[in-house]
Amino acid sequence: MNTTFHLYRLQQIDSQVDKAQKRLDEIQKILDDNTELKRAKAYHDKCQVAHHETENELQKAEGDVQDRHIKIEQSEAMLYGGSVKNPKEVQDLQNKTESLKRYLTKLQDIQLEAMLAHEENTEILQSAQSALDKLKGEIIQQNSQLAGEQSVLNKNKERLLTEREVALPAVQPDQRQLYEGLRKTKRGIAIASIKEGSCSACGAALTKSQQQTTRSNATIAYCPSCKRILYDS
Ligand SMILES: [Zn+2]
Repeated sequence: MNTTFHLYRLQQIDSQVDKAQKRLDEIQKILDDNTELKRAKAYHDKCQVAHHETENELQKAEGDVQDRHIKIEQSEAMLYGGSVKNPKEVQDLQNKTESLKRYLTKLQDIQLEAMLAHEENTEILQSAQSALDKLKGEIIQQNSQLAGEQSVLNKNKERLLTEREVALPAVQPDQRQLYEGLRKTKRGIAIASIKEGSCSACGAALTKSQQQTTRSNATIAYCPSCKRILYDS
């Protein structure tokens, strides 16, 4: 059996473990990231504050109009009640009533504006609420899907690690050290197979003699370009 066969087997297992781990890390990152939810909540809270403000303004405007109505009624009651008889006083009271009525129109305009502003903010708040609810629903669904994927990946990883335990004793200690060292410097790929006369990791074309060395049991052959250990199946 080729001297690098066991190393290549180890590499196949490790590459699958790495792939599973990479996806597990990605999933964890997605699960931990609540930026979008935070943003939607902050916007909703801002809309709620604005809604509350226009609600207060509308209540105040409604109160002002109501007060003015009462004042006008009181004034008119005095005017038509017959208690005021002096013409000068009657005139003053009439002027006062007119002035109260003029100002009532202004207050009603303010009330109308406040009502429109509050209606607008109510719609904005409702749409912010729906967006937040929708997002929450999407996150729940997404998280449940990711949790499912996570569970499958963890099981696969566990199985691969068991396979690794089984494969490991077949590897010579010095070769294992070499392998681990290369894994660290070569982005996880220490062993490259030969595909159609080229290194499968970097694509460099290999001479016949280089390919021949790879098949030898006596020495370990390296890719002249990426310096990974070559394996010829
Ligand atoms: Zn190479």
